[in-house]
Amino acid sequence: MKYEELVSVYSELEATSKRLEKTHILSEFLKKISKEDMEFIVYLLQGKVFPVWDESKIGVAARIVIKAISIATGRKSDTVENEWKRTGDLGLVAENLIAKKKQATLFSTDITVKKVFNNLRKLATTEGTGSVDQKIGLISELLTSAKPLEARYIVRTVLDDLRVGVATGTMRDAIVWAFLYNTDYDKIEKKMDLDKREDYKKVVEVAQNAYNMCNDFSMVAIAAKVGISSLKKIKLQVGRPVQVMLGPKEPTIEAAFKRVGKPAALEYKYDGFRMLVHKGKRVDIFTRRLENVTKQFPEVVRYINENVKAHSFIIDGEGVGFDAKTNKYQPFQQISQRIRRKYGIDEIARKLPVEFNVFDILYYDGKSVIDEPFRRRRKLLQSIVKEAPKKIVLSTQIITDDETKATEFFDEAKKKGFEGIMFKAIDSPYKPGSRVGHMVKYKTAMETLDLVVVGAEWGEGKRSGWLTSFTVACKTDDGVMTIGKVGTGIKELEAEGLSFNELTNMLKPHIISEKGREVKIRPAIVLEIKFEEIQKSPTYESGYALRFPRVVRDRTMERGIDDASDLDYVEELFRQQKK
Ligand code: AMP
Repeated sequence: MKYEELVSVYSELEATSKRLEKTHILSEFLKKISKEDMEFIVYLLQGKVFPVWDESKIGVAARIVIKAISIATGRKSDTVENEWKRTGDLGLVAENLIAKKKQATLFSTDITVKKVFNNLRKLATTEGTGSVDQKIGLISELLTSAKPLEARYIVRTVLDDLRVGVATGTMRDAIVWAFLYNTDYDKIEKKMDLDKREDYKKVVEVAQNAYNMCNDFSMVAIAAKVGISSLKKIKLQVGRPVQVMLGPKEPTIEAAFKRVGKPAALEYKYDGFRMLVHKGKRVDIFTRRLENVTKQFPEVVRYINENVKAHSFIIDGEGVGFDAKTNKYQPFQQISQRIRRKYGIDEIARKLPVEFNVFDILYYDGKSVIDEPFRRRRKLLQSIVKEAPKKIVLSTQIITDDETKATEFFDEAKKKGFEGIMFKAIDSPYKPGSRVGHMVKYKTAMETLDLVVVGAEWGEGKRSGWLTSFTVACKTDDGVMTIGKVGTGIKELEAEGLSFNELTNMLKPHIISEKGREVKIRPAIVLEIKFEEIQKSPTYESGYALRFPRVVRDRTMERGIDDASDLDYVEELFRQQKK
């Protein structure tokens, strides 16, 4: 396939913000793709060349792209850079400069999707001496043959900033429309409510389940093209991360019981770091964001090898850090330093070791056990985990149908310093990636929001060189919408174990453009924000604003932007607060 065909789909997608329209455009395009091309075209549609779970990234810095544009267009690097500062989008800069050059030379050749894909993949794997020049060469080779619009999307893909707005749900629905469910788009546009049709919902669920197992839309699309039975065959694989099951929140113990049924399993809610541990030929530890953090937690690898009796498995739990001197459990902020650590890992593992609290099992000796009822999965865990306090233990659990007992358990949890408790349905399966309510959480702490940083300001005076005053946004179906500006003070940040320096270093690589002191930031970093109150406000895109917002902690490690608080949740909090 010619790259031009894919590019015309990109620009159609970019031209609309309507989710149904995007789904339609995508599904019509998917129908045309051959089985051979499906894998890499589906990656490229998401602006990627690897599945989301794969840690390989294109990872090219803006200055390398500037150099490549300069070579392909014959312009000075300074010119390219100035244009970038003016427009804030290197893709558009490449497009404009190539358009000007093309007028002069009338020269262009067709590039294939495969060629673009291959060069981009090579960018990700090129390392070591001479790699910068090789990377510049790979990009400028593409740009030299590219038509202006092609250049726009090549550059944006290289920078991991495609901006055509294909959210996970849109991709899933497009695959369903293309291969699994006959939709009449004209009728859908007339507001016929697809989502209310039972047969449609079932097919979407199958597609979503398949995705939750493999985290790879190319795999899902290829299977869907064959048929629904193929899709159902996508199973867990040891060594490949899966989405964790999540629990919605219930406001009272009564509501929690109602949701999961009686009797229920009640467990402490640990404030640590979610870990899915795989053991096959080796041990792999994944976060709920599918990142591999095995190297950062050598002690957990040891506990797994020494204390879990099975050849292969996937177990789910929470790593809770404690101070090795005082033996006291530490809040999440402390252990979060361990996740980012690249050096001195053994040293920090000695100072701040992790106790792994295991609460579920998904796979055991060659077989998926997610469809077994929870109480059987728990029994299985009991039979294979040899508990060792401060190393590896099963989560503390009681089974009860009694609200008084549940209240006592909750009080006990609070007294021991936990945030709250989890309620789990004892007969339910494990649903990767879902918040269906087979488990729910109950806590009394104040509500906070997990918001995406989309802008900031360079500080002045004492704060110069730091990014301050963060514009934050909540999630919507099609992207993000701003909801406030957080101007936290230095002391307050320090009280939460953070600093401007740290925040600045996190945000800097994601700067898209700068105008004076204002910078725009690509959605990538999620901060937990506390506030006094949510108010209606025309100032921000969401229609809401936060009173006295403050940064509590960095949530990026556990919450991708997909997991940030969404507008529905903000609205729900707003309603609750009025009561
Ligand atoms: P929250 O982070 O407030 O949305 O709470 C949900 C998180 O609680 C899950 O993602 C888990 O990481 C964590 N969690 C803590 N203890 C448990 C437990 N016993 N069972 C399941 N999840 C737990």
